[in-house]
Amino acid sequence: MKLLRAIIAANNWWVRRRGIRVKPAEVLLLLPHCLHKDTCPRNVVLSLDECRRCGQCSVGELARVREMEGVAGCMVGGGRQALQQARQPGIRAVVAVACERELVHGILAAWPKPVLAVGNTTPEGPCRNTMADPVQVAAAVREFTGA
Ligand code: SF4
Repeated sequence: MKLLRAIIAANNWWVRRRGIRVKPAEVLLLLPHCLHKDTCPRNVVLSLDECRRCGQCSVGELARVREMEGVAGCMVGGGRQALQQARQPGIRAVVAVACERELVHGILAAWPKPVLAVGNTTPEGPCRNTMADPVQVAAAVREFTGA
């Protein structure tokens, strides 16, 4: 875990140092399915617009960040899907939320596209009802957009 954390910190340091600036629409906010409250009936994998922002999980606030910052965003079920989204030609930078292991895989797989990685927290254990800090995510998005 320490090694994964060090890789993520080094990646984020390097991406920030490069001072990359892109248009909001060229930034992809990539969210893992485990953020979605497991009792929620909304199909947020289909679209984040499906979220009713009821406050029971982090998805509502993260969907708000996507809307406020004007970036692209989606929720994915796994690494392959995440990579498909990150490789879209219109996307030039990625803000990824996930556990440390998935973040490191994603950073390596998405290269050379820059990825700012934000770790989620796991109050109910791994892969279930995880959480992410919208302030941290918004700050990462703005590092790319310069907003
Ligand atoms: S915030 Fe959105 S995704 Fe989360 S439980 Fe409420 S409606 Fe479902």
